[in-house]
Amino acid sequence: MEQIHSPLPPGDWPDFAPGLVWLLGAGPGDPGLMTLHGLNALRQADVIVYDALVDTRILDWRRPGAQVEYAGKRGGKPSPKQRSISLRLIELARAGHRVLRLKGGDPFVFGRGGEEAQALVQAGIPIRVTPGITAGVGGLAYAGIPATHRDVNQAVTFVTGHDATGQAPAAINWPALARGSPVIVLYMAIKHLAQITAALIENGRGPSEPVAVVSNATLPNQRVLETTLSQAATDVATHGIEPPCIVCIGRTVALRQTLDWAAQLSGAAPRSLDPLGTGESLADSA
Ligand code: SAH
Repeated sequence: MEQIHSPLPPGDWPDFAPGLVWLLGAGPGDPGLMTLHGLNALRQADVIVYDALVDTRILDWRRPGAQVEYAGKRGGKPSPKQRSISLRLIELARAGHRVLRLKGGDPFVFGRGGEEAQALVQAGIPIRVTPGITAGVGGLAYAGIPATHRDVNQAVTFVTGHDATGQAPAAINWPALARGSPVIVLYMAIKHLAQITAALIENGRGPSEPVAVVSNATLPNQRVLETTLSQAATDVATHGIEPPCIVCIGRTVALRQTLDWAAQLSGAAPRSLDPLGTGESLADSA
């Protein structure tokens, strides 16, 4: 097969100026989910500073000779302090490098990209930001769960499962969340899942409400656990579901019965064609 070495397709491809830090979202895992602006940045970067949740296959797209630095904190390795990451980015930029800060998902969604960007701007370093597909949307799509559906929710809320102290997030208004957001998408929530689900049930959510836990979303080892609000924490433990996980709470989870496209591509039949029970189907009119 012919190898394609072409530059990027027609578009407005920014130059990567020396001394600039480019914050780039790598997407949730599957390398194909990174943007073309991201690919353009990778091909120009001198130094790439990447996080634990970035799929390292993406690094194969760097230009030959580009330097790679790991700034993650998984696998039992100690976490470089956020401050030291920001200082390192500043140091590399001041040395005149084209610095690519590669972060999982979207850099401005629960990724501390905002903090790094602030530190850079305060230090007088020019930045560029390229968003990525956040795990709470892209990960659900790979599990066949739309984040919104007109028959289910007019709002969706992204919630972190722990705050800066590592505890279940204290600042969340649980009654308002339980009442106001038909679909709730939790990041970093496995540790405190029992506490979070209990808080939602205490504030009026149904114990049998559907929940999906998507682990390693978009990657070959993706696993999806379908459970309920009252059973979620127990089932995660029983089935040995490991982070990183996205937890989706709400009736959109039922749509997976129709939309689990990955299973269908492997030959499975949809489990239901009307999981919301609306009785509507285009198949009737087609
Ligand atoms: N900036 C990232 C989120 C970083 S916080 C984004 O926009 O997606 C890290 C959390 O993201 C993880 O604890 C997990 O909840 C979620 N996450 C990231 N990648 C994931 C993946 N491939 N599968 C499931 N969850 C993921």
